[in-house]
Amino acid sequence: LLADDGTVAATIFAEMSALAARTGAINLGQGFPDVDGPEYVKQAAIRAIEEGRNQYAPGDGVPELRTAIADHQERHYGLDVDPDTEVLVTTGATEALAASILALTRPGDEVLTLEPFYDSHAASIGMSGATHVTAPLVPGPDGFRLDVEALRAAATPRLRMIVLNSPHNPTGAVLTRDELDAVAAVARERDAIVVTDEVYEHLTFGAEHIPMATLPGMAERTLTISSSGKTFSFTGWKVGWLHGPADLVTAVRTVKQFLTYTSGAPFQPAIAQALADDDTPHALAASLAGRRDLLCAGLEAAGFTVNRPAGTYFVMADASGLLGRVGLRDGVELCRRLPELAGVVAIPAAAFCRAGSPTAQALASHVRFTFVKQEAVLREGATRLARLG
Ligand code: PMP
Ligand code: GLN
Repeated sequence: LLADDGTVAATIFAEMSALAARTGAINLGQGFPDVDGPEYVKQAAIRAIEEGRNQYAPGDGVPELRTAIADHQERHYGLDVDPDTEVLVTTGATEALAASILALTRPGDEVLTLEPFYDSHAASIGMSGATHVTAPLVPGPDGFRLDVEALRAAATPRLRMIVLNSPHNPTGAVLTRDELDAVAAVARERDAIVVTDEVYEHLTFGAEHIPMATLPGMAERTLTISSSGKTFSFTGWKVGWLHGPADLVTAVRTVKQFLTYTSGAPFQPAIAQALADDDTPHALAASLAGRRDLLCAGLEAAGFTVNRPAGTYFVMADASGLLGRVGLRDGVELCRRLPELAGVVAIPAAAFCRAGSPTAQALASHVRFTFVKQEAVLREGATRLARLG
């Protein structure tokens, strides 16, 4: 996080969104919707403000939201969650991840993630002082798939935690039952905790999302994280949560007290209402599937090889077919120059890998684009990218 000169590095998303704003490029980098979630949810937050719910919320979240989270997990996945002892509301999934990793790992522990990984997973492991080890997701005809042999090899007796993410940012992979079984077997064998980041749980296109906590013997060692930002298109409200065994949740709550103390009070009752609504996420997933197809077609026409995502907001595209044509070395150079060459911003896969790792090398020519933008924006993006040809 600290650069050599002592300055704090901006996240890749902040850097690329600033580049888009500065150059007027279309921002297909940072994943946030350009259409807000439902009006009734906004009105519920406004009502909560007007009704005076403006002071600190309870540390573990307002009761109606904790109950709505438990109901949601029961309704969708048959999980039995106690809203009073097994749920913690957090300031986005980001805080749930950071507090879990800080609470439950320490220097000397190993924490395993998939690679590529969402950037905050690695940053939180770095802040805890634990050692980050990875198992690669490898591109192939069926999308990005987990290298199960590499996973087993990476899991040493020092393994304390596996930070999983499915549907997966940045690859758009949705882990299969076989892949999840392999992760669960490793966790049980090494007696490791699984922290599973399921923020895109509803944003799948035909693939089934299987929560890790539903696998045999896993609920007792799994912390499940999600966020209303993705499910209801309110990324700026930062209402996230986790649930799991009471002792693990208690440990995470202790850390959360000193990160943020509590999370935004009036947004919580509004998200409690939203969580009873299955139509909104369903409609979002359906519309995202069409937008994925639109962007993938545009990327292919521009000369990228596209790895079709089964979920999330994102597509990973391999630029190796066009890098030579535009005289650039890799995805990092392409993303730096893309605003000027085509008026579009994207994120290099290298931003989701450890510097110089085998996965970083394997994905050197890959670039992540988001399709959680209105169709007209995606069409314009595709037209601009066609200039690369
Ligand atoms: N995990 C993943 C995989 C993400 O893509 C994101 C980005 N939204 C987050 C966590 C962070 O979620 P939140 O905005 O709720 O903190
Ligand atoms: N999750 C979003 C992405 O991957 C960005 C969130 C952030 O900027 N931290 O683009």
